[in-house]
Amino acid sequence: MSATPGQDTPDLHAIFGLNGDPAVRLAEPEEEEGAAPAEQGAAPEMRVASQDGRVGSPDGHLAPPDLRLGAPEVQVAEVQVAPPEVPPPAVDGQAGAGVGAAGRPGVTHPSRRGSSARFLTDVIVDMGLTTREQADEAIESARNTGTTPERALLEKGMLTSDGLSRALAERYGLDHLDLNVFGVDMGAANLVGTSAARRYQAVPVAFIDKRTLLVAMSDPSNVLAVDDVAIMTGYDVRVAVAASEDIAALISRLDRLEDVVSEGDPSAGEEPFDAQRADVVDLHENADDAPVIKLVNQIVAQAVEQQASDVHLAPEGGETRVRFRIDGVLQDVTTVTRRMAPGVVSRIKIMANLNIAEKRLPQDGRVGLTVDGRHVDLRVVTLPSVHGETVVMRILDKDSVVMSLQKLGMADHERDRFEKAFNEAYGAVLVTGPTGSGKSTTLYAALQELNRPEKNIITVEDPVEYQIEGLTQVQVASKVGLTFAAGLRAMVRADPDVLMVGEIRDHETAQIAVESALTGHLVLSTLHTNDAPTAITRLVEMGIEPFLVASALHCVVAQRLVRTLCSTCKQRTIISAEVMRQSGYKAVVDLEAYEPVGCGRCAGSGYKGRAGIYEVMMISPEIRTLALERRPADEIRDVAIRQGMRRLRDDGLDKVRAGRTSIAEEMRVLGTT
Ligand SMILES: [Zn+2]
Repeated sequence: MSATPGQDTPDLHAIFGLNGDPAVRLAEPEEEEGAAPAEQGAAPEMRVASQDGRVGSPDGHLAPPDLRLGAPEVQVAEVQVAPPEVPPPAVDGQAGAGVGAAGRPGVTHPSRRGSSARFLTDVIVDMGLTTREQADEAIESARNTGTTPERALLEKGMLTSDGLSRALAERYGLDHLDLNVFGVDMGAANLVGTSAARRYQAVPVAFIDKRTLLVAMSDPSNVLAVDDVAIMTGYDVRVAVAASEDIAALISRLDRLEDVVSEGDPSAGEEPFDAQRADVVDLHENADDAPVIKLVNQIVAQAVEQQASDVHLAPEGGETRVRFRIDGVLQDVTTVTRRMAPGVVSRIKIMANLNIAEKRLPQDGRVGLTVDGRHVDLRVVTLPSVHGETVVMRILDKDSVVMSLQKLGMADHERDRFEKAFNEAYGAVLVTGPTGSGKSTTLYAALQELNRPEKNIITVEDPVEYQIEGLTQVQVASKVGLTFAAGLRAMVRADPDVLMVGEIRDHETAQIAVESALTGHLVLSTLHTNDAPTAITRLVEMGIEPFLVASALHCVVAQRLVRTLCSTCKQRTIISAEVMRQSGYKAVVDLEAYEPVGCGRCAGSGYKGRAGIYEVMMISPEIRTLALERRPADEIRDVAIRQGMRRLRDDGLDKVRAGRTSIAEEMRVLGTT
């Protein structure tokens, strides 16, 4: 039985194992302090177990999986063994982390489950954390000074607190968590107040399942703490060991996250155009709501910290699932308990000035916040779904820095063409792509370059994503009639040199934009098309005369965002010509490139950050003629390619070869077209 892998167990069970509530087993006092050099020989067991790479835990199995629940015995999940070379001491925070196939980064499993009747000092020596001599010396001095040998080792600087925590985990057969790497679930952490967490040196860090919390502790033998955390949270507790320094750091981070969010926007008064900004609500109005407010603040603070673009809260069986969109991909973050869920949704609605009582109609609003000194705007949308209200918050971090085109990943060839276009005195320059392809970021980069005192630059945006000094930025406010078209019309009268229109999505806006481009203004805008050539046909479809399109348009940039490979863990690979052909490339030879792996730095995804891939089409006389003749986009594209346009897929492949992204990511974003 000891080697039965639990095939069907859900993720976290597979990762953390199911056997034994450590708290119960640890209740029996162990005389680890005693000096007993005679016990040295106990080590081999561990080494032997490591040989086959998979180990059950003979004694651990006998304990019911969860004594607190009195649950029936559960089959043991697969237990991944730490690498045969037992993890080295502190130096590298990633040692042994995420070794398990689908393992969470930062988790190191013990070589065997369940408490072993061994002296902690023996474990420390076996793990190579100190020498036998150092341990013996510490045992001797501890006996004389009334402390424990491991404390003596710590005090003499022979052992780090990380090393000690790894030894404790091994000694008690518990998982070790490297909290520098392990992605802490703030929803779980929030279940215990920071003062209690500090008192017990224990913080819940993840939900293992609907009724079990994973709790990181520096001293797993603190039974009282385990009981109190269980009572306090209403969850069963599974204990894992983490270094006391890391737990202290986590607790102060929790403290900080509670404080960083303050509502209201200090600069609101300076923005007369920003008619839609929500009124400020007092955060600390009602003590009864405090935990809910705290939780909402933490979710928002965490989202900003992780540079999420959106926060999704979706009801699911009475609970609410929280996901962040990071680098364009949704990721599970936490689950809000049944108890807190309604309050959290109401809280967010109050913040965004929405009607709490109205749950059957979609609503949208916004709120300005300061998170850790950064000015952040939240656009809140609620949608009634069959399971209850879904809430989506879009995060606009107005203090984030506008990036240069080079930093965005625009290669020299594309950049030269684009810069030439937007440095002309008049004409329209459009950036196209689907939602979330980074179009406005590219426009901001261009505006940044154009931003000189002698130029009058006015923008009308929905919403204003970045605030740039020297620009006049107008926020669309449809409710009071300030649409893109209305804003644009007003802008033209304000003697601008450069006009930026957030998006052309209707005939009226398109018409004014084109006319402005033809009357001596540089007009920058975005359009929703998949590639550059289609922009011409799209404008004509919107009802703009082909001759106007042909003469106004100077340049079209199409773009996408690809996730860039995590430079810490990416791995060299060879993509066969066969795979290249399947991906739509006319390849005859293999391609050397990189593929994602996943490590602590990238939360296991293998990717970190994003870069743009671009195609830049200059409107040549020949293309102008095709536009006038209403020729299809295909024909325009062929001519553009002949005249030097590199297509999105060409730029994408360049970035694959350069190791910036993977072929899989390029395919995900571009498809096989
Ligand atoms: Zn990585």
